[in-house]
Amino acid sequence: MTLELPKLPYGFNELEPHYDAATVEIHYSKHHAAYTANLNKAVEAAGWQGKSITEILTSLELAPKPQQTALRNHGGGYHNHCLFWESLTPKGTGKAVGELAKAIDAKWGSFEAFAEAFTACAMGHFGSGWAWLVKNKADELEIVDTHDQVSPVSLGLKPIIVIDVWEHAYYLKYKNLRADWIKAWWSIANWEKAEERFK
Ligand code: MN
Repeated sequence: MTLELPKLPYGFNELEPHYDAATVEIHYSKHHAAYTANLNKAVEAAGWQGKSITEILTSLELAPKPQQTALRNHGGGYHNHCLFWESLTPKGTGKAVGELAKAIDAKWGSFEAFAEAFTACAMGHFGSGWAWLVKNKADELEIVDTHDQVSPVSLGLKPIIVIDVWEHAYYLKYKNLRADWIKAWWSIANWEKAEERFK
């Protein structure tokens, strides 16, 4: 049994103009596909066929030593991108909805204050990585960043919504302007899906 590259829930061009078709296509069919293929090789080498991605990411230290790094990097790369594509939609609401909206207001005072903190986290992340809204181990909302392809699942966190701030995620259209990519992300963030995850 292999771990499969999930189908994108929209066409390559459907997130335009915020996220351009060329970047979405390369990001998905080259980067995400490569993480998927390399993860399956590492799973096979470790004799870990049949484990779910969550089982893999929460038991990395139990894997055979020679495969631990590959499972961390490609397992995280695989799963982080699955969550990333689900975090986007052509029908963005612009802000959180439902119970999650209430919880964000309770924690940060307003959605605008949360957005400012999340943007600062994504902007401030040094090098390649991700900014996340998660539920932490105490079941509270928290904004965290992770480096390279470390998965929040491996850290005992429950991901709600995420932005990819690796340069490959935005360089074709936005060049070095990460701030412009983050601004665009807010227009296509999938808060309906985030609400589902929150619940
Ligand atoms: Mn990426």
